[in-house]
Amino acid sequence: MNIRFSRRTQALSSSAIREILKVTERPEVISFAGGLPSPASFPVDAIARASARVFARQAQTALQYGPTEGYGPLREWIGARHRVAAERVIVTTGSQQALDLLGKVLIDPGSPVLVETPTYLGALQAFSLFEPVFCALRSDDDGPLPEALDVGLAQEARLLYAQPNFQNPTGRRMPLARRAALVERARELGVLLVEDDPYGELAYDGQRLPTLLSMNPDGVVYLGSFSKVLAPGLRLGYLIAPPKLARKLVHAKQAADLHSPSLAQLLAFETVRDGLLDPHLAAVRERYRAQCEVMLDALARHMPPGVRWSRPRGGMFVWLTLPAGVDAGELLPRAIARNVAFVPGAAFYAGPAAVNTLRLAFVTVPPARIEQGVAILGQLFAEALARAA
Ligand code: PMP
Repeated sequence: MNIRFSRRTQALSSSAIREILKVTERPEVISFAGGLPSPASFPVDAIARASARVFARQAQTALQYGPTEGYGPLREWIGARHRVAAERVIVTTGSQQALDLLGKVLIDPGSPVLVETPTYLGALQAFSLFEPVFCALRSDDDGPLPEALDVGLAQEARLLYAQPNFQNPTGRRMPLARRAALVERARELGVLLVEDDPYGELAYDGQRLPTLLSMNPDGVVYLGSFSKVLAPGLRLGYLIAPPKLARKLVHAKQAADLHSPSLAQLLAFETVRDGLLDPHLAAVRERYRAQCEVMLDALARHMPPGVRWSRPRGGMFVWLTLPAGVDAGELLPRAIARNVAFVPGAAFYAGPAAVNTLRLAFVTVPPARIEQGVAILGQLFAEALARAA
């Protein structure tokens, strides 16, 4: 059978991370590669109790088709949390679906799409199917540089994709002044901002900086997710969009999956209603803060001179920069041979890649194994540096 694939499938390949994850399923491997939340953070009992209540009182609703926009009470809850009208909220099948839907309604082949440097690999994957031309915005430790968004780039740009909080992959957070400057610049030049925020609730000190959405509700699409605050297996996220865009997104979602699973939506709502979420989040933040501290301590002890890393104040990732000339991708097979895995940074670049970078995820690895894994990486990098010298 000669299967005739569409042209857009040429952009379709398995992500570097998913490929690495296959190798790291071996129990002896210390994996800093996957971006999974800690299963110890899942509110299993609360979800089980919510499930019992849902099946006792609302089984028919939970098992029936529902509105494309999402389960009304959940949309109201999300709207209230972000101080926006529930009509702007669409519940999605993970925030990953929101990226796909945005691609569908905003990107034509050849459309410029602006992204941070580096950026979330899954967003590059989702948008790639719609054949954009990616433009990687110059960025520093605070996020994309507003002045990098010039009139030429802004013209025709369909969106600017950014993660202001504890970015995947670098762990960086955009300070308030940078947020304000970026929102202002985008507003001036008429560029739609896509604010992807799955880690916003994971600030270790619990302090949230204002969202880009709150600074310009009509110029920002906000993406939220229940994956890191409840559990990713629910596959629930949401988007908040200006009404005109929300209507188009609803039509695209109707075509994609009619609606996100009613059962998952009722379970999530029943779990978070009545203020149940905040005490749970406090525990997750504390767990992740402690894990991060172990990681940063281990890096300070074991990394050879010349290696730099980010010091995240929330989220799940540390970003390492090796001295120039060392290729993290070439070191990965050697690390895996010593039973340690990471994600080489090159995967996260839309433009020219800094191949001397890598991402370490630290929330799923027990502290003693973090120490052990970082010691092995430190040794490996020291050997590579000695060879390069
Ligand atoms: N955006 C970012 C930045 C992410 O890191 C992830 C998960 N790895 C997603 C979106 C997708 O999350 P989900 O579909 O589980 O909501």
